[in-house]
Amino acid sequence: NATSATVLGLGDMGSALAGALLGAGRPVTVWNRSADKAKPLVAKGAVAAESAAGAVAASELVIVCLLDDASVREVLGTVSLAGRAVVNLTNGTPRQARELAGWVAEQGGTFLDGGIMAIPPMIGQPGAFVFYSGPKDLFETHRAAFDTFGGSNYVGEDPGLAALHDLALLSGMYGQFIGILQAYALIRSEGLSAVEFAPLLSGWLGAMGGFAEEAAGQIDSGDYSKDVVSNLGMQAAAFENLPLAAADQGVSAELLAPLHQLLLRGAAEGHGAENLASVIELLKK
Ligand code: NDP
Repeated sequence: NATSATVLGLGDMGSALAGALLGAGRPVTVWNRSADKAKPLVAKGAVAAESAAGAVAASELVIVCLLDDASVREVLGTVSLAGRAVVNLTNGTPRQARELAGWVAEQGGTFLDGGIMAIPPMIGQPGAFVFYSGPKDLFETHRAAFDTFGGSNYVGEDPGLAALHDLALLSGMYGQFIGILQAYALIRSEGLSAVEFAPLLSGWLGAMGGFAEEAAGQIDSGDYSKDVVSNLGMQAAAFENLPLAAADQGVSAELLAPLHQLLLRGAAEGHGAENLASVIELLKK
């Protein structure tokens, strides 16, 4: 049955993925190490396989959503992948995806890697999307199934590219979390209300959100000297006040220290008159 699918791993995310496929009317076979987690999906019409091998035998399309690369290797090592299309939506690194792609090919299967940009309740809802990388024809063959999860964003033949895009977005997200946590730590150091401060912080992050687009052109061209309105040297000097104030307020500045060091290095190495995006050159190893 071309429209059937198997889902290996029924944690919060795997269960949401299986639920979306069932909701779209597809026959779904599921397997989870702890068998209990299959029950709610069986109640919605899924077939629970006794073993991972049985689940993989049931459908050509095998969606894998386990904890990490090690658990994926452990589970796939127990099954026959000949003729299967393995779609790994487990979070991992580009290198892990490339190595897994090679290993699946040796087993006679085909492989796509994916990166889920959503939390489980968002699956199948507007705003959720998934990056995919690997053979384009394989992506197109199964795209209708993928679209039940949310937007399907194909990013290239190299199987490592989905993880690269996923981890780049997560890097941006955690950078924002760093700033948000530090801002609230300062506000709370005076006993002020985080709730009252929140709209100011959200508004400010929105106003500064243009940095991603502005920096992009400079970074692609490697030219950081055009249209400079807030030069790096000025920012390195102003940044100094963040750890100073934090120390006075009894707040650690450890989240900010790495960027502070890069700004100082950039200024010391003669980039003071450039745009701040030039610090990316210091990140290249
Ligand atoms: P959970 O912790 O809810 O589930 C983990 C799953 O992995 C369970 O099915 C667990 O089985 C299984 N597992 C772990 N180790 C093994 C093993 N050695 N052998 C067999 N099965 C194993 O995690 P999620 O479902 O939330 O996450 C799954 C993947 O999705 C992760 O890679 C995560 O990074 C990614 N993801 C999650 C998001 C989220 O917000 N939840 C967002 C985007 C991506 P058992 O039930 O038996 O323990």
